[in-house]
Amino acid sequence: MTFESLGLSSPILKAIEEKGYKKPSIIQEKSIPLVLKGKDVLASAQTGTGKTAGFTLPILERLSKNTSKGKRPIKALILTPTRELAAQILENVKEYSINLNIESTVIFGGVNQNPQKRKLKSGVDILVATPGRLLDLEQQRALSLSNVDILVLDEADRMLDMGFLRDIQKVMALLPKKRQNLLFSATFSKSIKKLASEFMHEPILVEAAPENSTVDKITQKVIRVDKIRKTDLLIKLISEGKWNQVLVFTRTKHGANRLCKKLEQKNISAAAIHGNKTQGARTKALKGFKDNNIRVLVATDIAARGLDIPLLPHVVNYELPNIPEDYVHRIGRTGRAGAKGEALSLVCVDENDYLKGIEKLVGIKIDSREIDGFEVDPSIPAEDPNPMRKGRGGRNGGKSKSNNRNGKKPNNKRRRY
Ligand code: AMP
Repeated sequence: MTFESLGLSSPILKAIEEKGYKKPSIIQEKSIPLVLKGKDVLASAQTGTGKTAGFTLPILERLSKNTSKGKRPIKALILTPTRELAAQILENVKEYSINLNIESTVIFGGVNQNPQKRKLKSGVDILVATPGRLLDLEQQRALSLSNVDILVLDEADRMLDMGFLRDIQKVMALLPKKRQNLLFSATFSKSIKKLASEFMHEPILVEAAPENSTVDKITQKVIRVDKIRKTDLLIKLISEGKWNQVLVFTRTKHGANRLCKKLEQKNISAAAIHGNKTQGARTKALKGFKDNNIRVLVATDIAARGLDIPLLPHVVNYELPNIPEDYVHRIGRTGRAGAKGEALSLVCVDENDYLKGIEKLVGIKIDSREIDGFEVDPSIPAEDPNPMRKGRGGRNGGKSKSNNRNGKKPNNKRRRY
């Protein structure tokens, strides 16, 4: 399959060639022809699958056929949950439209509105936006959505998780009834299906299963370990495995900071990205990580949303997410672009219910094991009564009653498994 055979014309093909893409990804193969035909598409895709080009390329193709003369009304609206993702999408739109007479811009909150208003006034064909700023500027009459032909909801599950449902519905009400709708989501929860049924017209489900095929390429493992020994175990894994680029997820911002500090104390360079960090600090951390100056990037789920983190061999769930879908997002950061990846989850006894929810969602029982010297010790309380107590890693530390060298399962009945 080639991009040419998908029905894209030469200015776009040239731009793709300049980007160095050799052939369409699965999601592109499936979605591009449908979008070109004007169909509503409900696609299962997460960051890393090439989904952005999957909707952007055919949109450009369609718009390039009838670019308006004079003032340009907004013809395509791409809604995304986060600023980072919005900025990344615009960057892609610009690259793919380099040989076309198409104007595009991005609007999101947290920055001065005036440059955004000026650009909108000059006329844009494609607008990438986060919901809040979009509604704000619409209310101020700085933009009109009455000519939108194509709507894209990107990372729709994220938008719902972040509480954007009302805003999305408000945006819908401002759009012409007759339009093409594209919805991209990493997971298809009930709420996504419900949302889709509310506004999409006979959508075609594109289950090229990038999500599943990604998951197939990822070796998933659970390592059972006591909570208080997770940090020591992580340090051992990073050091002994000589991991040079690892993305580690924690559940809380505070936890991310704390873990970073501990890694740094062991001379493992680390940076945290989470909601309390400024945009500048997040960008700097991500750049350091991409440039291989930082070995470990510790992230919370929200901060990692939509980030174009490069191909990673290792993703570690230092703590499991309480929303099973977040697990799929997290592990999707490894095993990209055809490479094999490994997703390790350090799971303590408190997290069993989370693990069950995740296994139900991904449809497999994740291989679970213990690491020598870090076996689960039922004599260690689930919650550490003394946070000052040091982890008991080391050669023989903590093997006591739960030693399962003989292959026997430790008796964990007393604990909440
Ligand atoms: P996305 O899933 O849209 O965030 O894209 C993930 C990464 O894949 C981006 O860095 C894209 O530039 C890249 N990409 C998209 N399509 C292709 C393709 N057909 N071949 C190679 N790389 C691609």
